[in-house]
Formats: sequence, C-alpha cells, structure tokens
Amino acid sequence: MSEFSVYKNFDDLDQESKYLAHKAKDAANHAHAPYSKFTVGAALILDDGSVITGANYENAAYPSGMCAERVAFFAASAQHPGKRIMKIAVVAKKKGGKDLLPATSCGPCRQVMLEFETNQKKAIPIVMQADDNTWVIAPSAASLLPFSFTKDNLDAHHKK
Ligand SMILES: [Zn+2]
Repeated sequence: MSEFSVYKNFDDLDQESKYLAHKAKDAANHAHAPYSKFTVGAALILDDGSVITGANYENAAYPSGMCAERVAFFAASAQHPGKRIMKIAVVAKKKGGKDLLPATSCGPCRQVMLEFETNQKKAIPIVMQADDNTWVIAPSAASLLPFSFTKDNLDAHHKK
C-alpha cells in the first residue's frame, strides 16, 4: 500500500488534483443515473492541458450503461488522438446531492486505464476518494491491477 499517496483531507491534495476533482464533480451533475441514483464524474488532463470529462450513463438494459472514467478515456482518445493522459480524478455522489461519496474505479475501468497507460508508455495517476473521507492518489493504473493482463500476454501467446 505504501506506493499510494493518502491524504486525510481534500485540501491536502495538490492544486491540479483538486482542480480535476472539482471538474469531475461538475461532470457528475450530467450523469444519467435514474436507476442507481449514484452519479459519478471523471476529469482527466492531457499533456496539452486540455481537460476531458465524463459521467456515468446508465441504461434500462443495465449492462449497456457506461462508467464515467471510460466515457472520459474514450472521448479523449476520439477527440484528442495522440495526446497523453497525465492524470484523472474520479468522484461520486448521490443524484442531486452535494457531498461526495467514497468511490474507487471498478475493475473494467482499471483495465481500460491500463491499456491507455501501456499504449502511451506513461503512468496515469488516479485521484479518488476512499473510505473515511480520505483521498488517494494511485501512481498508475498498473498499481491498481497487480498480475494484470496486457498485450504482453497476447504477444507471448503469438510467439508460441
Ligand atoms: Zn468503471
């Protein structure tokens, strides 16, 4: 756990992380979460300073919905091809609520972040709110996915 930076209060975060968390909170207000009533926002910053946001978008056919993080990552890829992602913040709150709730990225989002990270050859720090209102900055997607599956596994398979 020592590689994760843990902060007791939001105000202890660095300026950029706080800025992204604020942007993510704004984005959460645009979530489509009529079923879970759990709105999530994500904001990532690119190497040219552009900020891309995403919010969860649920569907009456539940599995068809999408998480905020992946909305932001895929939008960044489509709209800003070739730009590297420098950091992402993810926040959650109840629909219509003001206070943020602890929420860390789900497994599939971690896997998608890892693909981006591997592709751009640069770690992507992830800012999230953990239990007891602490804030965590994971240094990379890889740090959130030990023993992960990447293209190296496919390459090894193709070499056989
Ligand atoms: Zn997710």
